[in-house]
Amino acid sequence: MKVKVISVLEDNYMYLVIEENTRDAIAVDAAVPKRLLEIIRKEDVALRAILTTHHHWDHARGNEELARLCPGLHVYGADERIGALTHKVTHNQELTFGAIRVRCLFTPCHTSGHMCYFMWEDGSPDAPALFSGDTLFVGGCGKFFEGTAEQMFTNLTQTLGTLPKETKVFCGHECTVRNLKFALKVEPENETVKKKLAWAKQRDDEDLPTVPSTLQEEFLYNPFLRVTEEPVQKFTGKTDPVEVLRTLRTEKDNFKKPKERPHPQAVLAFDWGLFSPFLEKK
Ligand SMILES: [Zn+2]
Repeated sequence: MKVKVISVLEDNYMYLVIEENTRDAIAVDAAVPKRLLEIIRKEDVALRAILTTHHHWDHARGNEELARLCPGLHVYGADERIGALTHKVTHNQELTFGAIRVRCLFTPCHTSGHMCYFMWEDGSPDAPALFSGDTLFVGGCGKFFEGTAEQMFTNLTQTLGTLPKETKVFCGHECTVRNLKFALKVEPENETVKKKLAWAKQRDDEDLPTVPSTLQEEFLYNPFLRVTEEPVQKFTGKTDPVEVLRTLRTEKDNFKKPKERPHPQAVLAFDWGLFSPFLEKK
């Protein structure tokens, strides 16, 4: 099983999972059909299915077009709002694509129909993979748009947190630096947070993805998975794990956004405005 990490839109990840014996492929969150089809052509694989984590535009908007272009394509998801949905899946349902096995893990909260996908190959030495959409991020978790802190607590501690520690985490967005800056505010003394943040900043500078992480790592620096740790409780002023999580989410929602990086065109326009009076004088 091979996972292609495809960076699309502002900071989204689309994934292509390849079954190496059959050369069949499964896409996760196919937001940009053109990019996906280019890679499918280059890898010389056949797209059999799309697994959609949730109905949001930046995760599901390519479904209709791909369904039109690839007759017989199966589109899986847990929410009727997902475009071109052909197979509605439920919690713990298992799917098979050649040697690839998938377990659907229902994680309502970011949206009421959010599904994560746990993937592995029987008899393979490779670590399993978790496609966590907008439920679990590297260093963070998704916003509670359609759910509660109680639900996210169950998602993170029970549904996802009990998976094998070596599970690789492939999430829906590249927001690691921002998440870890917040993690550092929560736990200023946490050396693992500091190290991971320095690493993530370097990856960001080199325009490289910070996915995948592992579940084991996440437990060391992700405050949303550390709600029973004393420094995290101290930061929130709460001890009940659900209340700790609720407060963390509110604090993160209010955490200052980094200054927008100027778009290259914006920089050009700005420079022109700055230098043109000077040039005119000459
Ligand atoms: Zn979303």
